[in-house]
Parts: sequence; structure tokens; C-alpha cells
Amino acid sequence: MTLPLIAGNWKMYMTINQAVELVLKLRDAIKGVSNVEVAIAPPFTALHHINYLLAETPIKLCGQDVFWEKSGAYTGEISPEMLKDVGCRYVIIGHSERRQHFNETDEIVNRKILSSLKEGLKPIFCVGESLEQREKGKTITIVKKQVEEGLRKISNGQMKDVTIAYEPVWAIGTGKTATSEQAEEIHNSIRELLYDMFNLEAVKETRIIYGGSVNPDNIDGIMAQPNIDGTLVGGASLKADSFSRIVKFKKTGERQ
Ligand code: PEP
Repeated sequence: MTLPLIAGNWKMYMTINQAVELVLKLRDAIKGVSNVEVAIAPPFTALHHINYLLAETPIKLCGQDVFWEKSGAYTGEISPEMLKDVGCRYVIIGHSERRQHFNETDEIVNRKILSSLKEGLKPIFCVGESLEQREKGKTITIVKKQVEEGLRKISNGQMKDVTIAYEPVWAIGTGKTATSEQAEEIHNSIRELLYDMFNLEAVKETRIIYGGSVNPDNIDGIMAQPNIDGTLVGGASLKADSFSRIVKFKKTGERQ
């Protein structure tokens, strides 16, 4: 099994100077950590500077979004090749904020995943239900549709480079976290679904990470779940002390 992945999504925060300051602190705070893969997703404007600061570290650079075309007259967009060029290894695709504010559909998400994989960028593919959908008992149906449509035409060989981030929309930036058990239940269902879609070897390599108000107080319980292979962290990734504590989660329960 691949290492757990802890990824920080900085969203639309941090000027270049602020970003540099945070990375310098973070580099020190997580020096020597080798049992976890760490990625950070700063805003596009800071990627170039941060790439230099990460050169001698195991921390990977991640884009927050990408366009599916290789190049062309698409004002304002960034291609997978450009993200690779600036040093990114990962890219977040289909975040609920993109789905909500920019009308990203499962089809768009699928195009972005396919073109990123073609360029050698590893997608962190986000799925998750709204509060209304959860209350109507539709969580599994919604997540299943997002996974099936988002991963259309993806081969077994490509699947090893895909990380799925289960992020219940009602838990993002709200301080409400799914309980570890609620998250584990959905992760388990996603894993079962992947077994229907891909071969055993591909699914064994696929990480399913959790996102939604992850913080230093709940990380150990979340990471104790057998089907949770890491976390996507928003708010708590903006401070070196909270993010480094998350990266250094304590192994308890079934993961021990
Ligand atoms: C996110 O942005 O993906 C996220 C999970 O945010 P937060 O940790 O702030 O809920």
C-alpha cells in the first residue's frame, strides 16, 4: 500500500510573501517525517516561488484546479502542462467549491482528470454530498454517480495515480466534521465501487482520503479508520503548527 497522503488546500489565501513565510515554517516543522506523503496547494501566483523552497524537501506541490486543454485561446485558464512546468505533481480536481461556484459538472471533472493523467499530473479527485442530500439518505447514490462519471475512460494503469478525496460538502469550512465512523462507511462504499470498476491491483494502490474540517484534535481518530488513507485539509493547512500536527498524526486503532 502507498503511504498516506496529507494534502493542504490553501484556497484563495496567501500573498507570495505570506506563502513563503508559511512554507519556511512548515519545512522545519515536518523535517524528517517519512511515513506520510505531504502535498500543499498554494494559489497559482505563489507556485513558482514555493517550488524553489520545496526543492530539497519531500513536500510535493499541488495545483488547486486545472483546465483540460493543452494550450490555446482560453483566457484565464491553466493547463496540466503549465502546472507540471511550475513544479506541480498533484492537482485538486472537482472540489465542491468549484462545483458550486463555477458550475463544474461530473463531465468537466472527468475531462480534467483525463488530461491531467495524460500529462503525468496526479489528480486529487473530490466527491461528496450536500447536507440536503445526506438528510434525504442520498449520500451513497450521489457519491457513486460522481465517482463513476468522474472516472469514465480511466484505465487500471492510470488509477494508481488517482487519489479520491471524500469531502462531505456540509463539513467543509464549517467546523462540522463527519464522525470517523461516518467517513469510514463512505470510504468503504467507494472502495467497494472501485472494485466493480477496476482490477484488484489498481484499487489497492488508490488512496481514498477524507476532507472536511480536519484539525489537530480530530486527525488521530480519522486516521485510525482502515479505509481512510489520508486527508485533504483546508483551514488548518494555513498555519504551520496545525498542519504539521496533522501530518504527524498519531497511529491508533486499526491502522497501528
Ligand atoms: C477543503 O478545502 O478541501 C477542506 C476540506 O476545507 P476545510 O478543512 O477548511 O473544511
